[in-house]
Amino acid sequence: MNQKFIDLRSDTVTKPSKAMRQAIAEAEVGDDVFEDDPTVKKLEEMVAELLGKQKALFLPSGTMANEVAIKSQTKSGDEVMLEEDSHIYNYEVGAPSVLCGVQLHAIKGKRGVLTAPQIMDHIRPEDIHIPQTTLICLENTHNRAGGTIFPIEEIKKIRETTKPFGIKMHLDGARLWNATIATGIPLDQYARHFDSVSVCLSKGLGAPIGSVICGNSDFIRIARRNRKMFGGGMRQVGIIAAAGIYAIENNFNRLVEDHRNAKVLAQGLSKIPKISVDLESVQTNIVVIEIKESGMEVADVLEKLKEKGVLAVPFGKNRIRCVTHLDVNLDDIYQALEAFKRVFENPKED
Ligand SMILES: *Cc1c(COP(=O)(O)O)cnc(C)c1O
Repeated sequence: MNQKFIDLRSDTVTKPSKAMRQAIAEAEVGDDVFEDDPTVKKLEEMVAELLGKQKALFLPSGTMANEVAIKSQTKSGDEVMLEEDSHIYNYEVGAPSVLCGVQLHAIKGKRGVLTAPQIMDHIRPEDIHIPQTTLICLENTHNRAGGTIFPIEEIKKIRETTKPFGIKMHLDGARLWNATIATGIPLDQYARHFDSVSVCLSKGLGAPIGSVICGNSDFIRIARRNRKMFGGGMRQVGIIAAAGIYAIENNFNRLVEDHRNAKVLAQGLSKIPKISVDLESVQTNIVVIEIKESGMEVADVLEKLKEKGVLAVPFGKNRIRCVTHLDVNLDDIYQALEAFKRVFENPKED
């Protein structure tokens, strides 16, 4: 795209900076399937340490990270419990059933959050007829709920009440970085309640590619085999891992700016008549806008915003999502707000 858009479609649209490209150019590499790539090793050690886990494994995408984690902790016919709006349930092309052979049991949460009693109500009794729940997947922050934070107290309760049943827990922490920056709760404090955690380097942190899963050594040994089976064994991939290391070192703490920008955007939008934002759900870098009252169609609004230089995405019926990130600054946010005002205050204007 040559025209300069204020691109609020996702925090995945960031492009590697000059300094990140420099780190990529200078990366030491080796064949990572032979476990010979020093830069990948360094990234894996770094993430394992940050998350307080024994080992970590580098993967090409968040989807593969979640699916390898599920595959490595279940057997076919098991049941995996998760929230109805979760990424794994909605946006991974049915991979849990296709690649892992598991049955998903989705439960409706509130702003992406499930409670311990709710989960306990759905755990299956042992019976010859009934599939067994062996894994619970939680998501923090929660994408479809609008970047909401899963309260750590509830995570603890879920862990305590389900552990006696031998049920494992996986955290889809694609945006766990954002939860930590927003709450001040360190990554390892979240991670300690889970057997496996996935984090994404190519969202808010601004790396071009890559996710990491971590857990204990046994889990990572099995996950490494499953990664290979899913076609995710990569060779001189230190050139990407170097971007991940750069991203963690330089772009983690600055997520606070994205959170501030999202709040400015949400507050500005909430003053525009006939559209609304649930301000309570704007906890990190995602803003979901409800446009029903305006009587306008989502596609029409997106087209008009685009004409005014702003990109966003549809987010279900009558909703639009905006995500703040590394490549938009506060000025861009004020400009985006002007574009929204013009679209909704003068809907007939061309
Ligand atoms: C983006 C995202 C993923 C992974 O997405 P990929 O596009 O496969 O990297 C997983 N979980 C959540 C919550 C996400 O937002």
